[in-house]
Amino acid sequence: MDKLETGTQTPRTVRCPACGGASVYSPSNRYRPFCGERCKTHDLGAWASETFRVPTAPPLEEADPAWADRN
Ligand SMILES: [Zn+2]
Repeated sequence: MDKLETGTQTPRTVRCPACGGASVYSPSNRYRPFCGERCKTHDLGAWASETFRVPTAPPLEEADPAWADRN
């Protein structure tokens, strides 16, 4: 399913995941499978903001009560 594009004369086009438009899926398109830089950066930005919404660690104030008793 994932063929190498060696000596292909006709560029294959896929649907851009960001805008749904036609995207050239070939080594000449560095933003593939996106149609262009804008779509690729937009998708990465959405993915990054989604990631940053997840807290990396629990708040220290919510620590185990047993820890406070030891003070
Ligand atoms: Zn696009």
